[in-house]
Amino acid sequence: MYKLYVILIFLLFSINLQAQQYVDGEIIVKLKNSPHTPQAQNFLGKVSQKGMAMKGSWAGMKLYHFALQNKSVEQAIQELSADPEVEYAEPNYILTKAQTDSTTVEEFTLEELYAQSGGESLTTTDAPINSKTSDVSSYSGSSNVIVAVIDTGLDTSHRVFTESEAIWKNSDEVPGNGIDDDNNGYVDDVNGWNYVTQSSYVYDDDNHGTHVSGIVLSTAVDIFETPVPVSPIKIMPLKFLDGDGKGSTANAIKAIYYAVQNGADVLNNSWGGSSYSLSLHEAVSFAYNQGVAFVAAAGNSSNNNDSAPMYPASLDVPNVVSVAATTSQDSLASFSNYGYNTVVLGSPGLYIRSTIAGGNYGYMSGTSMAAPFVAGLAALMKLNQPSMLSYQIKDIIKSEADYSSYLAGKVFTEGRVNINNTVQAAKFASVESSQPSYSISEGMRSLDSAEAQQGGCGLVSQVYNDFQKQKNNKSSRALNSMILMGLLLLPAVILLVRRMKAPVSRRRYERYEIDSSVKLKVGEQELVGQVSCISLGGAQVNTDALLENGGVVSMSISSPDGKDVIEVKGKVVWSAEKKAYGVQFAETNSQTLNSITQWTRGLSKSS
Ligand code: CA
Repeated sequence: MYKLYVILIFLLFSINLQAQQYVDGEIIVKLKNSPHTPQAQNFLGKVSQKGMAMKGSWAGMKLYHFALQNKSVEQAIQELSADPEVEYAEPNYILTKAQTDSTTVEEFTLEELYAQSGGESLTTTDAPINSKTSDVSSYSGSSNVIVAVIDTGLDTSHRVFTESEAIWKNSDEVPGNGIDDDNNGYVDDVNGWNYVTQSSYVYDDDNHGTHVSGIVLSTAVDIFETPVPVSPIKIMPLKFLDGDGKGSTANAIKAIYYAVQNGADVLNNSWGGSSYSLSLHEAVSFAYNQGVAFVAAAGNSSNNNDSAPMYPASLDVPNVVSVAATTSQDSLASFSNYGYNTVVLGSPGLYIRSTIAGGNYGYMSGTSMAAPFVAGLAALMKLNQPSMLSYQIKDIIKSEADYSSYLAGKVFTEGRVNINNTVQAAKFASVESSQPSYSISEGMRSLDSAEAQQGGCGLVSQVYNDFQKQKNNKSSRALNSMILMGLLLLPAVILLVRRMKAPVSRRRYERYEIDSSVKLKVGEQELVGQVSCISLGGAQVNTDALLENGGVVSMSISSPDGKDVIEVKGKVVWSAEKKAYGVQFAETNSQTLNSITQWTRGLSKSS
């Protein structure tokens, strides 16, 4: 039996390994110590002996991008994970644009577009979105706001961007003098940066970035008007996707840090991949901690992101607004990913009319096109409330979405973005001066409760995500320790394998009816109660005491026979009458998961 387990674990991990797509001969490494410490210096002094050459660094974050000489990514990661100075090492995963129709885009001139519409006025989308640029552009706050479009670049000579004066200018940089005037590490970065060619020339050899940028702009000004009015939204083009719409995680991270450090208020990310990257996660949480909004395309695989995550869209960082694509009927576009726990809302993403490289216009579809409407909206909110932080921006976007029965159960808000209502709500909101702190070690285990709220036993997807994380992160640790962990988690892993075979629509762990006693500790207060339902991700707790939504509780849950006890911390994510509370487990170790799996064997499943 033991052998069988080992084979099973190997099989599981090797399947996962094959599914990963990353840049050959490159890795991303995080060190434990700051660059100037003897430990880091010692490590960095020996990289060539280790067969590595530095390609880039984010020294402040202790992160490094290395090229490998004569060794495989797997080999390098295995070696480095045994190095005491290495916090983690991971592959440089490949990321792709989230556009469906990536064949040649048909080009139209403005005249042709008007002829098509019979002379009627033009909009980027015919789908409902409640956007009237005349309303939203009457802003009262700051004079402009910056949206970084992290994408395939931008046709900076397109009349829509020149007439609207929409291209961000780095005023601290003198164009073309060959000097890094503002000392930000980039020479002549006047209008953004091209990470594909490592130059200041941010041309778009794909159309995607130019199309996305036009959509962002269209939330503030009429991009079909002649001339296009001056836009309060400025686009900071950061090219990391090449002409095929592919890019690397290392370059995505560089672009995110650049955007945040150079003043972007909102980041639009119409791209992603299925492999979890801790370094990308850290970059997104850096943006959150700086108050910057992060809008991401949910992806175009018709997948449920709750069970098959897409990154960065599925990261649980509280500034991430994951966007699905909707149709003119407010239903989910057939290609669009969805996810009740992980996708925030829908936005039009079918046949969107916008700018393409070369000066013309074209139609594109994808969650790539849905996200920039929301990024533009976030920018309009910042325009009216310059000090509003990303957490509140996301909160208001969520609360103002228009309900659509088609989106029920598909996205968290069960709604489609409503631009005007959201901007109005932001205008009159009292701005919160701080937002909840987020760090990955805690955050991965205790995500935003409101977003994760659901019935029954409460949130369970997090445990799944943790599994995904452990699976995907395996390369960052010694294989041996992974096998050990795999064995420790075996019952749950088997459960997971079973779940993976289940229909895609399944998004939760099984919940079991249980009758267990629980001791609760809330602050200094000790309480007693019953657990009536349990899963690997949470429990329903019945107690006479009043528990606060969002509050943290420490629980000692007894097994039904009273012989075993698990200690687990959790967060109250919902409450109902009759003193029933949903508690999402914040920290679960393999022992806890094992115990729950054993306890629930043979119990009835809860509906
Ligand atoms: Ca510079």
